[in-house]
Amino acid sequence: MFDDLKEYALINHIPIIKDEGLSFLLLNIKKYNIKDVLEVGSAIGYSALNMASLGAKVTTIERNLDMYNEAINNISKYNFQDKIEVVYMDALSYTPNKLYDLIFIDAAKAQNQKFFLRFTPFLKVGGIVIIDNLNFHGLIDEIDDIKSKNLRSMLKKIKAFREWLIDNSDYKSEIIDVGDGMSISIKLK
Ligand code: SAH
Ligand code: MG
Repeated sequence: MFDDLKEYALINHIPIIKDEGLSFLLLNIKKYNIKDVLEVGSAIGYSALNMASLGAKVTTIERNLDMYNEAINNISKYNFQDKIEVVYMDALSYTPNKLYDLIFIDAAKAQNQKFFLRFTPFLKVGGIVIIDNLNFHGLIDEIDDIKSKNLRSMLKKIKAFREWLIDNSDYKSEIIDVGDGMSISIKLK
């Protein structure tokens, strides 16, 4: 759904979720009967609209004003204002005021652990966390060949995060080679 938004994102180089990753996300929303979603990183509202079209209520956080405005416009265009709330803020300053069934993290890739620690207190036991771009465009396995120091440093952070996540015994986590690499973690206690 929302193919016009998908096309707009492709033309304008806005990094929306890949088709395969979106299918994985939506499949899990159905499988776990997700009602309330917290999304970190709205961009133009494409993933939020897709999740809301399954009936979930979505709170989505975006720190870039242009992206925020585009998300707001797209959400009104499709009449999902009562299903999706867009928060214009840096997610690291936002404190939720309710508990969620799903946290979808799709923002600054070097900050995954910070987002995870900040928001999982607001995840119900049995709830899930899904994170996008853990393969970072396939570069994760080529770290040593990367010339740019900044990129190498970010890839190392993503790699360290993957290990931290798998070792976190409060969650049962899997990293799946779908889309651009996604994790799914179930909160055990
Ligand atoms: N989930 C969207 C794509 C998000 S792209 C989709 O699939 O349709 C990542 C977005 O995260 C960008 O728009 C970027 O501005 C935003 N972002 C990055 N770091 C952030 C932060 N700390 N707080 C809020 N938004 C952030
Ligand atoms: Mg993404």
